[in-house]
Amino acid sequence: MTERIHNFNAGPAALPLPVLEQIQAELLNFNQSGMSILEVSHRSKWFEDVLDDAIARIKRLLRLDERYHVLFLQGGASLQFSMIPMNLGAADQPLDYVDTGTWASKAIKEAQILCKPARVIASSADREYTYIPRSIPIDDQAAYLHLTSNNTIRGTQWRSFPASGQVPIVCDMSSDIFSRVFDPTSFGLIYAGAQKNAGAAGVTLVIVRDDMLERVPDSLPTMLKYTTFVGKKSMYNTPPCFAIYVVQLVAKWVEETVGGLDKMAAINDKKAELLYGYLDSQNFFRGTAEPGSRSSMNVTFRLPTPELEKQFIEQSLAAGLVGLKGHRSVGGCRASLYNAVTLAAVQVLVDFMKEFLRKNG
Ligand code: PMP
Repeated sequence: MTERIHNFNAGPAALPLPVLEQIQAELLNFNQSGMSILEVSHRSKWFEDVLDDAIARIKRLLRLDERYHVLFLQGGASLQFSMIPMNLGAADQPLDYVDTGTWASKAIKEAQILCKPARVIASSADREYTYIPRSIPIDDQAAYLHLTSNNTIRGTQWRSFPASGQVPIVCDMSSDIFSRVFDPTSFGLIYAGAQKNAGAAGVTLVIVRDDMLERVPDSLPTMLKYTTFVGKKSMYNTPPCFAIYVVQLVAKWVEETVGGLDKMAAINDKKAELLYGYLDSQNFFRGTAEPGSRSSMNVTFRLPTPELEKQFIEQSLAAGLVGLKGHRSVGGCRASLYNAVTLAAVQVLVDFMKEFLRKNG
């Protein structure tokens, strides 16, 4: 392969080309240090500037007020499934979860392993997680309400978040952070593995509100406490420096090159409209998510038979389109349209689908 191809991977996924080019350009001599960013000390001014800039940009992009702390942790979004109930789950208050698919179910399982009073207050398991539940019974007594904003595997997304009153929302935004504008004020904690929309694998963003920190029990191991990382600006131990640097560059790209989250969201809407518009215009390819719950990030669809799906995926690879195979747990096809995937790439995909239908329909 000599050219870059159209990357529809679900994560790790496409990164903006200017970000990759900047990484390449400064790899041997980062910011006049005479060293790579991979080689500088995490206590150096070079890295500290990267960290501070990443935090400042994320705060501006998400419109976070001074109560919010931006942390860079390891262990993936999956470690957050346990850290959240450990840190924020009081013993005498229910922990409320909405089950919208695999990742939400995994979060619930970890709270249960820890013997926390976790409850599933709404679920879309009855129709194979093809929709986002509409009515969410909010209980003022709950310690938090856990949501998964975008369900990477089933291709569903909360188009708006439920009014949760006094109950802080805790949200897994792994597959749609930085893709759109939302009001953060009802969120007590937001987390996201960086490897889809925010950067490279190896770092997890955690955004936590001040009042949540009062709940953190002293009894937790140091590395599992949010307060450890808030107190040391994510540098209690060696942070994943390179992955944080990539997040900084991605945030800079969204802010400066794209022009902010409003503009990013408008582009993402156009991409989603193009692909869903095509899915709705014929009967060969069939979108699997219910229209009102469709994700603008992960578009899931099926073809008439598994055999045709296999051919579609094989031929798409040969045509320079990668990552269209659905998650192994559900099969079918999936195109991930994260921020770095261009409208032009989605047009190439739609043209390829039309041609495939013409030959096989
Ligand atoms: N949550 C969601 C919504 C995801 O899509 C994923 C990964 N695909 C995870 C959590 C798990 O993330 P990680 O691999 O960083 O633990």
